[in-house]
Amino acid sequence: MSPSIDTRVAIVGGGITGLAAASWLELDHGIDDAVVLEASDRAGGKIRSELEAGHTVEGGPQGFLDNAPDTLELARRVGLGGALVPAADASADRFILRAGRLRAVPTSPVSFATSDLLPLGGRLRVFAEPFARRRPDGDESVFDFAARRIGRVAAEVLVDSMVTGVFAGDSRRLSLAATFPRMAAMEAEHGSLTRALVARMRAARRSGGRSAGPAGPGGTLHTFDGGMELLPRRLADRLGDRLRSETAVLGIGRDPTGLILETGSGPVRARRVLLALPADRAARLLAGLAPDAAEPLAAIPTVPIAVVMASYADPGAFGRPVDGFGFLVPRAENAGILGTLYCHSIFPGQAPAPRLFLRTMIGGAREPGLAGLGDDALVGSVRAAHARILGRDPDPDRVWIVRWAEGISQYTIGHLDRVAAAERAARAAGIELAGSPYRGVSVNDCIRQARAAAGRLAATS
Ligand SMILES: Cc1cc2nc3c(=O)[nH]c(=O)nc-3n(C[C@H](O)[C@H](O)[C@H](O)COP(=O)(O)OP(=O)(O)OC[C@H]3O[C@@H](n4cnc5c(N)ncnc54)[C@H](O)[C@@H]3O)c2cc1C
Repeated sequence: MSPSIDTRVAIVGGGITGLAAASWLELDHGIDDAVVLEASDRAGGKIRSELEAGHTVEGGPQGFLDNAPDTLELARRVGLGGALVPAADASADRFILRAGRLRAVPTSPVSFATSDLLPLGGRLRVFAEPFARRRPDGDESVFDFAARRIGRVAAEVLVDSMVTGVFAGDSRRLSLAATFPRMAAMEAEHGSLTRALVARMRAARRSGGRSAGPAGPGGTLHTFDGGMELLPRRLADRLGDRLRSETAVLGIGRDPTGLILETGSGPVRARRVLLALPADRAARLLAGLAPDAAEPLAAIPTVPIAVVMASYADPGAFGRPVDGFGFLVPRAENAGILGTLYCHSIFPGQAPAPRLFLRTMIGGAREPGLAGLGDDALVGSVRAAHARILGRDPDPDRVWIVRWAEGISQYTIGHLDRVAAAERAARAAGIELAGSPYRGVSVNDCIRQARAAAGRLAATS
């Protein structure tokens, strides 16, 4: 059978990475014939927004920080600059559960010194950070790094929460260098996070800019008017029939003229290929062509996660204010949930005022089995946790549930070496890799990786 499509570049996977890569090829390099092959009937992958009864129901990402220039540039260049929506000022306050009570996350060293987020001993240990032991050779877990630098108490409360918030992951298994590269770099450059932060604050003051936290530069969460899916939908619209949905790639082979992608609706011939897929799918597709890439890719795990969103007509339903960004739950609290975002407060346009609109995450590396529970059990877990943490168990009058069996990629110890090996072996076969399994899971990271991959594809196609 002759190839049904013949193209310079074929992109496999129509999540944000694949769609953004096709757009960058066009916007940055004038390549306007790349084809995106997507297995499902809709583009966007993990980005999924439904508008229902005045609610913006986000099944995947809630937003992205405005500290990454590529995402904002892409949004503006495809005409969505006017649809950007920043988080409300009222959502600035964040909370962490400790010893059964929500504690405000302090925003300055002075407020940290007097806050009740950590017990006194834990707080004092954080201030001893500049005198911490030097880093051991080789990759280190996020937890070991944090315990070494700021003490076990802070590692268990602050860092475990942070890892839960971004990766739904286990801080004892995740690689510092892969998950929080900026923190690793700060220690390497300045010998101490405190000294690095002071240096950055001074530099920011000199340049009149904004300061940065240890996990990365500060930023404001943004979404789009209509939800996160507005961006992939716009990118998909621009592609037109160059986006082939319901076209799963089943295998990849090669002939003297290039790579042949096997799909249910006929083969696709391409000079270069980008795989923008979950790592296990990429591993399967590369098993024959680039086994040295397939093996490390198969070792990149994901964790399942369930998202439960609940809306309450009565803003006083919990008998206390539910204002701010929301709260995260460290492992030691055994609350059965990973955390809850106060969506009505973050993006007030996403629920009819004055309702409460809560979004709770369940499962992750901590309790993967919970993410697969039935609807009643999931809602029951959320309600029991909220009764304990927020003080009451009011009846929500609307609930939405989204489950992701392969929710978020986990960058375990040795991740960056595995990625480098996979990239090398895949590239030797004419194939690029980009997306959440590799160098950052956030939407911003995916769009940045997509741009870099588009550059490499353009240079060699
Ligand atoms: C619950 C949740 C909350 C999150 N919250 C945030 C947040 O607030 N902010 C943030 O920045 N990030 C967040 N993330 C992370 C972020 O949304 C994802 O990492 C990112 O969207 C993944 O994009 P991707 O393109 O790498 O992969 P995916 O979105 O997984 O896309 C891969 C695509 O490949 C397709 N595919 C698979 N196999 C094949 C095949 N054989 N042939 C063709 N196509 C195939 C799939 O159908 C899919 O469309 C969250 C993730 C989850 C799950």
